[in-house]
Amino acid sequence: MQIRKQIHAIKIPFQVKTELGVLDRFVYSYLIHGENVCLIDSGVVSSEGVIFDYMEKIGLKPEDISLMILTHSHPDHIGSAKSIKAKSGCKIAAHSGEIPWIEDVELQAKERPVPNFHLLVEGSVDVDKILEDGDVLDLDENISLKIIHTPGHSKGSISILIEEEGVIITGDVIPLKGDLPIYEDIETSINSIKKLKSIPKIETLLASWDDPQEGDNVYIIMDDALDYLQNIHESVIKINKMNPSLEPMEFCKMVLKDLGMPEVAANPIVAQSFQANLNVREDQDLF
Ligand SMILES: [Zn+2]
Repeated sequence: MQIRKQIHAIKIPFQVKTELGVLDRFVYSYLIHGENVCLIDSGVVSSEGVIFDYMEKIGLKPEDISLMILTHSHPDHIGSAKSIKAKSGCKIAAHSGEIPWIEDVELQAKERPVPNFHLLVEGSVDVDKILEDGDVLDLDENISLKIIHTPGHSKGSISILIEEEGVIITGDVIPLKGDLPIYEDIETSINSIKKLKSIPKIETLLASWDDPQEGDNVYIIMDDALDYLQNIHESVIKINKMNPSLEPMEFCKMVLKDLGMPEVAANPIVAQSFQANLNVREDQDLF
């Protein structure tokens, strides 16, 4: 899908096996082409076919990708990075906070045991370029990418602002109301969303798990995310007061139920999010 003259959204469908059965999901990668072509995120394992087919349709070859920016290290963002790097010869760039889990996916699987991890990720890749907050990468004289450090979902999560086009790419930084909440640190998550909200004149929001959003919706989605995180926080505090000694997984199920979500969706990653809320339970109002 063409977003601007030089910006494309590539929707990548995939399936995950859960206790609920096989779920159809999708994740977006984004392609930005100036004189140099940059791919943002690689999708899950075997996504390179979808990405290269799309590129062919707009007259580009895999070897045209000179840079792949990974918004963070989670499986649906780095799954195909190994194949894409091998076929294109591109450099890989990511924030320093994500490098250990990109360069050693077995370490990631051990420290963050996402269900079906090895079905989603092809393998480890080396990061060639370290990105930090405020870095600006010029693809040509008309288009540049500004890196914004937006941690919380993970330590080194970044967003990418294309100021001249009023476009921002946010990875998994902004949780979608009703989706499973995933963050390592709730307060930095909120600060990151506020940081994005303070950027004026964003016309298009490109997230990984949502279709492109335009106009007023951009800031409404950020406000909804902040409300959603506050609701979760209140629910965690309430359930913890009622049941102070529950095991993390049992606690996770009860909070999901309280939020009106299916208890079977509970998994260790979501349980970790709610533990992150418990770490700051004395702070009742996160705003
Ligand atoms: Zn993620």
